[in-house]
Amino acid sequence: MRISRKTIWTAALPLSLVVHCAAGTPEAEPTVTVVVLDYAGLPDRTLAGAGTVASSIFRKAGIALRWVDYSTWTQEVAHLKDGVPAVPSRVFVKILPESRASRFGLAGIAYGLAVGRQDAYIFADRVRTLAVSKGRSEPPILGCVVAHEIGHLLLGPGSHADGGIMSADLDVETFLQAERGHPPSFTSAEARQILARLR
Ligand SMILES: [Zn+2]
Repeated sequence: MRISRKTIWTAALPLSLVVHCAAGTPEAEPTVTVVVLDYAGLPDRTLAGAGTVASSIFRKAGIALRWVDYSTWTQEVAHLKDGVPAVPSRVFVKILPESRASRFGLAGIAYGLAVGRQDAYIFADRVRTLAVSKGRSEPPILGCVVAHEIGHLLLGPGSHADGGIMSADLDVETFLQAERGHPPSFTSAEARQILARLR
């Protein structure tokens, strides 16, 4: 079942990854650091709820997400006199209001975009409008959008699938299940592909 308005998550462009292994032990869970830039000024509880959903999606694939806001991240890298390394162990999630999302020139049915090696853009006002129109909670939908776009960054081009979190279209039932704590997953093949890149 699809929602009446087709949900499009624009395909990601090439990219490499962002990863590091926590603690440096062989058993450590691969971790992706997610630096968040919230230009939309979302409430903390909305961001936290979305982060919980996105983290749960990746955790089922055996990957940890480490969330860091931009100001904290700049402090973390402030000691790097020569600038941030060219091969970063992170992705940036940039949450945009419609005034900035519209600059991409994408149809209003696009909710996010993954660009280049590490940048995911999330169109917050469109997610909120979708949630309201479908009578669904906003954070789980936002979390699914964020996980989907990060998935593009980690999987590379052509990473849409017929089902699961990398589906180009998500439906109302998917959002309902996400609200209930059962968001869509990466397929086994997708999880293996991401883990192979991270290790
Ligand atoms: Zn997509």
